[in-house]
Amino acid sequence: MLLTPAVEKTLSLRKFSGMRIDILTVVPELLESPLNHSIVKRARQSGVVEIYVHNIRDFTTDKHHKVDDYAFSGGAGMVMMIEPIHRAIEHLTSQRTYDEIIYTSPDGERFNQAAANQLSTVNNIIILCGHYKGIDQRIREHLITREISIGDYVLSGGELAATIMVDAIVRLVPGAIGDEQSALTDSFQDNLLAPPVYTRPADYNGWRVPDILLSGNTQKIEDWQMEQAYERTKKLRPDLLR
Ligand code: SAH
Repeated sequence: MLLTPAVEKTLSLRKFSGMRIDILTVVPELLESPLNHSIVKRARQSGVVEIYVHNIRDFTTDKHHKVDDYAFSGGAGMVMMIEPIHRAIEHLTSQRTYDEIIYTSPDGERFNQAAANQLSTVNNIIILCGHYKGIDQRIREHLITREISIGDYVLSGGELAATIMVDAIVRLVPGAIGDEQSALTDSFQDNLLAPPVYTRPADYNGWRVPDILLSGNTQKIEDWQMEQAYERTKKLRPDLLR
């Protein structure tokens, strides 16, 4: 495995093994499947990461469990109210310190591999998922420490964005994947796309695996992978090399 400077930096920042993520939402059902399958599920089961989903409605005090109200500006669409979110965040921050309180938002900083690397090295984070027209601006001003977008398009809620971020972060936490460094050699680490991969059979009706991969020469194979990564990046994403 290649130990590039970005990989070494990420590894050196890891002084602990274990992370806690609290997600605040009004639609917890949207988070169920992605957080309960595959690598994220195994990471939770083995104690590498603890993930808790909280329904913001549980922090309301009125009998209708109201979490949204009309916008002062008028127009269509509801806005998520301050109080239930404030209560939910205070409930969590009164129990432990959080490194970041993140709001998923189309106008936030763009999520990428570097952000995933960095967030995989912290202890505790809260992710607040917006819904409807978004959340009262005062929550963003007074309670949120970081705002993250997963791309230039508008989703119905922050839940899918949160699951994408959690997936990208959790697979980097030590112990989540069998070979810790394998996730650090994926595409975008050090701005290179991953080289192509193959499995058996070596020859499928004449579609052959490159000979070098069958040579058993580890050094040559690593050189080939590096060359492929560079060539693919040059061809498909030249912007990454600039
Ligand atoms: N009125 C807002 C969009 C609201 S969409 C605007 O025009 O900017 C409802 C919620 O979905 C948002 O509050 C946010 O939490 C989430 N969301 C939508 N698009 C997103 C994106 N690209 N990245 C992260 N979260 C997003």
